[in-house]
Amino acid sequence: MPVVSWRLVDYHVHSTQSVDGRSSLDEICSRAVELKLDEIGFCEHVDFEPDDPGFGFFDYRRYSEAIDRARARYADRLTIRKGAEIDYSLESENQIRTWLEDKDFDFLVGSIHYVDHIALDLGKEIDIPPRAVVSKYYTKVSQAAESRLFNVIGHFDFIRSYIPSGYDLASIASDIIDRAFERMVSNGVHLEINSRRKLDRDPFPSRRLILQYLDKGGELFSFGSDAHSTRSLGVGIRQSMDLLHSLRPKAVHLLFD
Ligand SMILES: [Zn+2]
Ligand SMILES: [Zn+2]
Repeated sequence: MPVVSWRLVDYHVHSTQSVDGRSSLDEICSRAVELKLDEIGFCEHVDFEPDDPGFGFFDYRRYSEAIDRARARYADRLTIRKGAEIDYSLESENQIRTWLEDKDFDFLVGSIHYVDHIALDLGKEIDIPPRAVVSKYYTKVSQAAESRLFNVIGHFDFIRSYIPSGYDLASIASDIIDRAFERMVSNGVHLEINSRRKLDRDPFPSRRLILQYLDKGGELFSFGSDAHSTRSLGVGIRQSMDLLHSLRPKAVHLLFD
């Protein structure tokens, strides 16, 4: 049964304000109106790893001006949220905090894209034993939730893509994952259901992990496509909503509810 009661939102969208974005912020808003999205949340990359291609790319002033222009242009047709996806690590936590001091965002997504300074790039194998990399990854997720810097944890089990099949990820790191969920619940951090994967596969996080979060009393959710162009805007959001609905959560509060 389709979910009709939740607003149709996409709170994880990259425009050309991100180093790897392919469509302008204006093109994305125009497409969002065509798709009849109620709300769109831009979530531009902000990177603190010096070797990341995005390091130093994001320009807060340029971004703020583009958001202001889009809000004026789409005023009565689309709600536009000004967010950022910040790559988190404990070492850069103070730097992130300082950087945020004179900036104003509607929401912040904390994501882990690196383990031991090695990028988790799709299609690239990483040369760390799977058990170690999984534990390190989820420890970082847990620290991000603990930092209270973020409203949302992005693509919670992103690491899933980098581990050979056959490893039971959820049980390797079950305790650390539990701790991350407990910290999210106690700090009011939303779990993002990120539909970037092909639709015949689980989103990030997997169905099993969403259930584990619900078991911990999690009620706060965000939905995002992780679109980097107009082509994938909104893709998979309804399916993610249907999936969550099918897991019979006791209560669901979306970001900005
Ligand atoms: Zn990301
Ligand atoms: Zn992203």
